[in-house]
Amino acid sequence: MRAEVERCARLGFAGYGVLRAKAGALGTAAARAALASAGLTPTALNIAGFFTLPDRDRRVEDARRAVADAAELGAPALTIVSGPGDVALLRDGLERVLPDAAAAGVALAVEPLHPMYAEASALFTLDAALDVVEAIGSPWLRVTVDLYHLWWDRGLPAALRRAAGRVAAVHVADWRLPTRSLNDRARAGHGAIPLARLLAMVLDAGYAGMLESEVLSDELAALDPETVMAWHHDDLAAVATSASASRTSASTDRPRSSDSS
Ligand code: ZN
Repeated sequence: MRAEVERCARLGFAGYGVLRAKAGALGTAAARAALASAGLTPTALNIAGFFTLPDRDRRVEDARRAVADAAELGAPALTIVSGPGDVALLRDGLERVLPDAAAAGVALAVEPLHPMYAEASALFTLDAALDVVEAIGSPWLRVTVDLYHLWWDRGLPAALRRAAGRVAAVHVADWRLPTRSLNDRARAGHGAIPLARLLAMVLDAGYAGMLESEVLSDELAALDPETVMAWHHDDLAAVATSASASRTSASTDRPRSSDSS
């Protein structure tokens, strides 16, 4: 993680999405120090949840530990993936972790996934995630908008407006045609997703945080990481510039970029 953080800073990223395994391997305090000395803001700690699966008590305890780790890292959010199946079980898990989240000042950011991830998620649309978030109604419960997972949903524009003020993070990757595996995402601007148009909607709905590159790709992982990360930085900047240009509102705020790949 230390080398990745240093690379992100060198390439001009403003933030870093932290994976629990990487922070755990380095140690949470050392991970926080590495981010601080590189001048990077942690966007979120990834991931916890899977409350719909058996052994929910253990998963709730794990999420509580992750909330504490996120607070120690200085990350404002913990990404939550629901697990497959019964959404009522997700709600139960969230309600049990939320007191810790509120006390620690860490938002639980529920991330809906594309239906091809049905093994991992019961939430496939932003509206489905917002239904849970609104039913619970805590200010510490928010959503993560991953455009790679959500772009296909024709209800997304309305859902983005509905999500205004509750978006904790925005993940960006493009859809490779043809997609050959679950680890086959395309660089932003190099696939089938109208990313600039969708990002303009995200910004119009009031999101002012960072955009995170999350290009999970076996193909790109086999290449020189410095080169690939530089591509991600420049791709994200290009898409953000296009999005800002196509916004309907008058704001000229420019999003900053971070990396969580
Ligand atoms: Zn994501």
